[in-house]
Formats: sequence, structure tokens, C-alpha cells
Amino acid sequence: MSTATYPETWDLDVFFKGGSESDELQQHLRTYEGKIEVFAKKVEQFNTPESSDSSYLVYQHIQEAKGIMMGISQAGAFASCLEAQDMNDTGAGVVRGKVTSMAAEFGSAFQAFQQKLAKTEDQVWDSLLEDEGLKEYTFIMTEWREAAKDKLSEAEEGLISALSVDGYHGWGQMYNALVSEMSIEIEVDGEVKKLSVGQANNLRSHENPQVREEVHQKLEEAWSKNENLFAQTLNHLGGYRLAKYKKRGWDDFMKEPLEYNRMKPETLDAMWGAISKSKDVFVKYLDHKAKLLGLEKMSWAHIGAPISESVKKLSYDEGAAFILKHFKKFGPEMAAFAEKAFEEGWIEAEDRSGKRPGGFCTGFPLSEQSRIFMTYSGSMSNVATLAHELGHAFHTYALRPMDPLNRRYAMNVAETASTFAEMIVSDAAVKEADSKDEQAALLEDKVSRSIAFFMNIHSRFIFEQRFYEERKEGFVTAKRLNELTTQAQNEAYGGAVTDNEPHFWASKLHFHITGVPFYNFPYTFGYLFSLSVYARALEEGTAYEEKYMALLRDTAVMTTEELAMKHLGEDITTEAFWMKGIDLCIQDAEEFIRLTSG
Ligand SMILES: [Zn+2]
Repeated sequence: MSTATYPETWDLDVFFKGGSESDELQQHLRTYEGKIEVFAKKVEQFNTPESSDSSYLVYQHIQEAKGIMMGISQAGAFASCLEAQDMNDTGAGVVRGKVTSMAAEFGSAFQAFQQKLAKTEDQVWDSLLEDEGLKEYTFIMTEWREAAKDKLSEAEEGLISALSVDGYHGWGQMYNALVSEMSIEIEVDGEVKKLSVGQANNLRSHENPQVREEVHQKLEEAWSKNENLFAQTLNHLGGYRLAKYKKRGWDDFMKEPLEYNRMKPETLDAMWGAISKSKDVFVKYLDHKAKLLGLEKMSWAHIGAPISESVKKLSYDEGAAFILKHFKKFGPEMAAFAEKAFEEGWIEAEDRSGKRPGGFCTGFPLSEQSRIFMTYSGSMSNVATLAHELGHAFHTYALRPMDPLNRRYAMNVAETASTFAEMIVSDAAVKEADSKDEQAALLEDKVSRSIAFFMNIHSRFIFEQRFYEERKEGFVTAKRLNELTTQAQNEAYGGAVTDNEPHFWASKLHFHITGVPFYNFPYTFGYLFSLSVYARALEEGTAYEEKYMALLRDTAVMTTEELAMKHLGEDITTEAFWMKGIDLCIQDAEEFIRLTSG
């Protein structure tokens, strides 16, 4: 085995030297500001094509737009990394603000271009798509055309885009700023520690029940204290979206998230339908886990509790070695890719204060590299998160042969590769366990992901739907948000948990993300979809990697229904498809109960 010590902090200098004060970054931003200005002028002069003679001009505009998108993504990814690694880096906020306004500026020019293009008459449109250069954009150009038809005029959409910087995204930034001001004091091992929200969240799986209780209570208190502030951020985000939809004449707030995820409403219904019918065994699992913990019934503070102390901690290097060893069994390319990511400082994993909570993976398209952010404290769950983020990065890597415009996959399939990678690691962990106790503990870690996807995320989905429904009528108070959360939790957990976490709506960053609406169901989709892919990989061994990468490459050029049909031969609008994945999870839950009974 390699004795290499992998860096626990990432290398950002390779993109722009000097962090948020970087001159290189300023130079980059100025360059792209100029490009955006030029592009906007060209779009002003651009007219709806009247014959196939315009195809070259359309092609040129698309190439320019593509270049700008990559430049903005590069800077945006850098801003995300700066903001996440040090929440007190005020310069990062300035960079973020700049990138956001550039993106909005470009967004309105690009939208104007799309709208002019969308007005092309059918016959001319078909002749454009026959052009050699444009052919490969058929799927996305058709998508643009459909989307443009649903929107307001160029001028109105341009105005919306311009106002979104401060009127919409600003609320998301406000949320992050408020969270970064929060700190929680908790006594761990006789020592009082001042922790960031992210660090405190990591203690939810602490082996000491008193620590878990205290963390749960202190976090709830902290969110409660600020509930009126967060009611503001959430209501204004939701209110902005609804006002925009209303102006566009859309009555269904699910229209945007479903279209964004390139899926049909029937598919989403089939997925939740299958899940709702399968709660029993997961309720039974939570009841059983509660007993193992010496509790009458499961309570919120202990859902994340480890059931056995035999779970060993893995150092960062051990975690990395574990991931690499098991990735290798699924395919040489994924393993080699992950090793490179570890070696070359693509990952920020250090456990320190001041970091943003959670994990993410972001791509730097101009450098063809990704960066992964997380806080690694040595649990198997951290190892799984690391594998998850590496899966995202591998997806980006698999898409390299595609034109950059054909790499923009939606979030539901984005979670396919991440979950796939996570499954490899968590399955392996269960199989490699050296005692029954440890096996159970690791299986528990795996089943807890099912709990997250089928219960926690289901509760987020139910909550968010009802919140939007009520927001249509006006401001939803913090008190009401707490009630909606409580109801959603009771339903989604099938009554398995005695108490609630009423401020979950405030504590969950996902509700405040402005990039995409309904940042919840795509996780569950990705998980179950991925299980189908994973099942195939188990059957076919390392030979499957090539087919797997072909599936990943297609994720940005077809609908999810088409993707599943082409690569899996499955109809995902039926509950039967979703049941297959859920059944695998049910087996895990039953196995856990069996292992830990008697
Ligand atoms: Zn993910």
C-alpha cells in the first residue's frame, strides 16, 4: 500500500494566485466583463434567422456564449471555494457579488439571444439544425426554444435577470452571512468548545448521547433565536420565485424544478408513490434502533447516533486508501481519477473552525479540474461523503469528450455518479467489517442514507411544496414554518420519531439555495436511479465502466426518461422501476434488524 500522505487542504492557487485578493482573478473578471459587453452588443444586432444562411452566425454566437459561460463558471467555482474555506473572508463575498452580477449580465444577453433564436419559423429552424456545426446542439437548442416560448418578452426577462442579483440571490447570500455569524458552545469530553454550525452538526453522530442531546438542543435554540431573520430570507426567496412564475403565467411552481431536471411529473409521482408505500420497514428499523439505544422510541437527537462503538475512525489517508481500493474493483479509470484528485490537492477536507458546513464539488472548466469541499473528522460517513463528492468530480471528468454546452446535466442525474461512488464505499465497508458489531454499525450507516432519502428528504419535499402553496397567499411566519415542518416530518417519518426539529426549515441550507428551486427530490431520484446502475455494475464487473461512462456522457443531452430507457431499458414513470431500488434498501434494513436482534 502507498504510504503517501495526501494534502488535506486544496490548491486554489493553480487557478488564481492570492485568494480573494488575487490580481489574476481581477484580470480574469475584467477580461470576461469585456467579452460579455461585446456579446451583448452582438445580440442586440442579431435578428431572428430567416433562412439557413444564418446558421454560421448562430454557430459563432453559440461558441462565444460557451466561452463566456466557462469563464464565468471558472470564477464562480473559485468564489464558492473561497467562501466555503473561510466564512470570514469578506473579500470572497465581494468576488461572489461580482461574479453574480456578471452572470446576470451575461444571462440576460444570452436569454435575449435564445429568445430571438426561438422565434425562428419551423422550416428555417429545421434547416438550422441540419447545419454541421449546430447539429450537436439539437437537444439543448430545442430545449431553449421550448423554454423561450414559455417566457416573457426579451426586455421583461432581461429586467427580471438584472433585478435578481439583489432581489433574489442577495437573500441567499444574506442567509449565508447570518449562518456564518452563528456559533454554538458545547461541552465535549469535559471541555467547552465554541463551534461553527457545521462542526456542531458533525457532533450529531457523536457516541456520547449527552453530547448529541446537547447539540440537538443548542442548535434548535440557536435557530429558534434567529427564526424571524430566517423567515425573512426564506419568504423573500420563495416570494421572488412565485412572483416571477405568476408574471410568466405559470400556475404550477413545480414547472421550473421539473423542467430543470428534465423529467415528467409522472416520474416524480411514481417515485414518491413507491416510497410512500415502503415506509413500514424503515419505521420498523427506527423503532429497532431506538431500542438498541435504550430509548422507548426514536427521538430527533439520536437519529444520527452510532449504534456500536466498534466503528473505527479512519485517518484521512486511511479513508483515501479505502476509497481507492474499492473504486478499483469497479473500474480502473475511476480509481486513477480519484488518486489524482487526492494527490494533486483537489480536496479541502481539514477539520477546523470557520469553514462552511456541508460538502460540495465544483468544476473549473477552463482548467478541466474539480475541487471538493467537506469537513473530514474520520467517520465512515465522512469517507462516504468524500466518495460521493469524488463521484461528482468523476462525472465531470467523464463528460470531457462532450462539447461544453452538452455537459450541463441536471441535478437529479448529477446525483447518479455521486451516489454510485458512495454505494461502492458503503457496501464495501459492510463487507469488509471484521466483526458482527462493526458490520451492523456500518450497515446502519448505509441504512441511514435510506432514511435520509426516503424520510428526511421526503419531509423537505412535503414541507417545501406546502410552503410554496401558502406563500402564494402571503408571508408565512416563523411559527407557521415550524408547524409545516413538524407536519412534514411526522408524515415523512411515518410517526417513527417522537419529537420534531421544527426549525429544520431554517437550518437546512438547501432551502436557501438560489441556483435551483426544490433542491431536494433530485437527491432521492439520484439515489434510486443510481442503485439501478450500481446493480448493473455488480453484475458486469469492471467491464461495465465503459458503459457507465457512456451513460454519464448522455446525462446532458436527453431527458431522464430517455436516458433510463436507452441505458437501462427501464420505464421510470412506473412505480415498479422505483420499487427495484427501494427493495435493495429494504433488504439492508432487514439485514440490520436481523444482525442486531437477540
Ligand atoms: Zn451530491
